Amino acid sequence: MSTLEQRIADNVARVRQTIADAAARSGRRAEDVTLVAVSKYVGQAEIEALLAAGCYDLGESRPQDLWHKAEQFADRPVRWHMIGHLQRNKARRTLPLVTLLHAGDSWRLLEAAAQHLQAGGQMLDVLIEVNVSGDATKTGLDSDEIEPLLPQIARLPSLRVCGLMAMARWGGTLDEARGDFVRLRNLRDRLAECCPPEIALTHLSMGMSGDFEVAIEEGATLVRVGSALFEGAEP
Ligand SMILES: *Cc1c(COP(=O)(O)O)cnc(C)c1O
Repeated sequence: MSTLEQRIADNVARVRQTIADAAARSGRRAEDVTLVAVSKYVGQAEIEALLAAGCYDLGESRPQDLWHKAEQFADRPVRWHMIGHLQRNKARRTLPLVTLLHAGDSWRLLEAAAQHLQAGGQMLDVLIEVNVSGDATKTGLDSDEIEPLLPQIARLPSLRVCGLMAMARWGGTLDEARGDFVRLRNLRDRLAECCPPEIALTHLSMGMSGDFEVAIEEGATLVRVGSALFEGAEP
């Protein structure tokens, strides 16, 4: 094994152990939490190392990078997660490559995505992104915008809405991050009670390198971890 491969394998093992411990603290199993390895910072060699370490759920935040990497790894069983904002004019090319769209961040995007998916005969799992912290710089729907949209969203063809996604406030403490994650979980619990049957709010995508432990304690089912996987393996 090269040093790069070894470092990344060690980092993956450490992150997986942290995930398992945090899942146990929240009364769940390690398998109940999916590690989405965010590959947006890295190239082919690091991605090869992630695959060698058993990480096949990979997250990208820019559509062009996702297109490029999906082509590079077309012969490997990678599940690509689109974790960043998807401009509507990039949806047609991006959606067929993706396993889960985390950033369903506007009605207009969801509507456009449904059109493209229906035309392509594809079903896709989608999360609704929520601006839980109220940061002006953050994307996502405001918490109180979602409930009135649910009936409309439920009628969109070809989309399976299966949960919510959020980022903790920028530059906040761990306690503030926990508060943001609790807000997302509470919102999910509240919406689940009035949700049309077409929509299941099973998943919570929350937690990044600095706060994924806390996110799992508060119920994350998907964590999006980038930099912690590449420590000591910077290009
Ligand atoms: C980059 C990114 C991550 C990963 O961030 P790290 O702090 O490097 O783990 C997670 N989620 C989103 C939406 C991102 O853009």
